[in-house]
Amino acid sequence: MEKIKMPTPLVEMDGDEMTRVLWKMIKDELLTPFIELNTEYYDLGLEHRNETDDQVTIDSAEATKKYKVAVKCATITPNAARVEEYNLKKMYKSPNGTIRAALDGTVFRAPIVVKGIEPCVRNWKKPITIARHAYGDVYKSVEMKIPGAGKAELVYTDENGNETRETIHNFTSAGVIQGQHNVTPSIESFARSCFEYALSINQDLWFATKDTISKKYDHTFKDVFAEIFEAEYKEKFEKAGIEYFYTLIDDAVARVMKAEGGFIWACKNYDGDVMSDMISSAFGSLAMMTSVLVSPHGYYEYEAAHGTVQRHYYKYLNGERTSTNPVATIFAWTGALRKRGELDGSKELMEFADKLEKASIKTIEDGKMTGDLARITSLKKPVVLESEEFIKAIRTTLEKML
Ligand code: NAP
Ligand code: MG
Repeated sequence: MEKIKMPTPLVEMDGDEMTRVLWKMIKDELLTPFIELNTEYYDLGLEHRNETDDQVTIDSAEATKKYKVAVKCATITPNAARVEEYNLKKMYKSPNGTIRAALDGTVFRAPIVVKGIEPCVRNWKKPITIARHAYGDVYKSVEMKIPGAGKAELVYTDENGNETRETIHNFTSAGVIQGQHNVTPSIESFARSCFEYALSINQDLWFATKDTISKKYDHTFKDVFAEIFEAEYKEKFEKAGIEYFYTLIDDAVARVMKAEGGFIWACKNYDGDVMSDMISSAFGSLAMMTSVLVSPHGYYEYEAAHGTVQRHYYKYLNGERTSTNPVATIFAWTGALRKRGELDGSKELMEFADKLEKASIKTIEDGKMTGDLARITSLKKPVVLESEEFIKAIRTTLEKML
């Protein structure tokens, strides 16, 4: 078979620990034998971030603006222990945070659904994708402990020095307060990313907030979505035969539990943080969750939702072979390759991505899987494979399909 050509590169962001090990295996076994892989390579491994004072992360985000598609390996977000372990010059920020700030996007997380790994919720038949707004609210809030009686106020001072005040509470005892904010441009780009992504995967979009209680804050989110939908997306949605649906967050939670899946659920920052953990664990495993950052400017960055699987890596360093699940990282690659193919009009590349996904799923459904899945599968007598054996088994399945 002739290798598939890739005229335009995609941005490849290498990463850390066990996922870096899987990264190479995936390229060697599942990609380069079949594709003339064309990537612009950025090493986001912690050592190289340290050598470049994290410039490499910024460069990789800039390259994503140029080529529009990136695939990223999981990376370490340094904490105090990592600063010591890697002898870092400083405690660098999370690469995902840096990239998100540069591309201004929304993160969509979707479970990979396979037969034999049944969701805890019986009626979920199709994936539920969570879109989490990644700016502001409680994550950028300012808090204060109130020591005792006194008045707490919200004060806004405009550029001319005019003040607007609102009493938060007249305290008669000790207590706590918190000031949250968001900015309209970020809410607008969140809305546009959600509408664009719904169109790109042809699924309904749900959005929910607590606007009945939060009549200004949450209501602004509701209004921004409604205005942008009416003005820019209503007709496109009708044409695509999909729906935009707004409801109260409590109602959304109740409906999600009764639904079949197959839609996108847009969440404010905190709701998305909490609900994505609920969705991923209810669907089976964090190792089967994909993640894509979609920017309103049309840039796409694909990755696995899990981290660098540090515990497995230490075993690997000890010479042990691990059964780390590569599926979400494979799907990060297939997502990026399919998008590259779509943007460049390469049907071959898109079909290859589809087949590699099908081969991964079929391998599991045929009973061959990594340890994390074997522990939760409903299939009888699963064969537990080490990462490399599992990737080779996927290759065998793939070769039969090609
Ligand atoms: P993690 O890498 O997601 O792993 C947590 C645990 O989940 C693992 O110990 C393992 O459980 C299980 N697991 C996750 N992915 C798996 C896979 N592919 N196959 C099998 N099991 C899997 O989280 P962490 O250990 O808390 O974090 C490690 C590093 O990742 C941290 O430095 C963090 O900063 C970074 N991180 C990066 C990203 C990102 O780049 N997007 C996201 C999250 C975390 P068992 O040990 O029980 O087998
Ligand atoms: Mg969380």
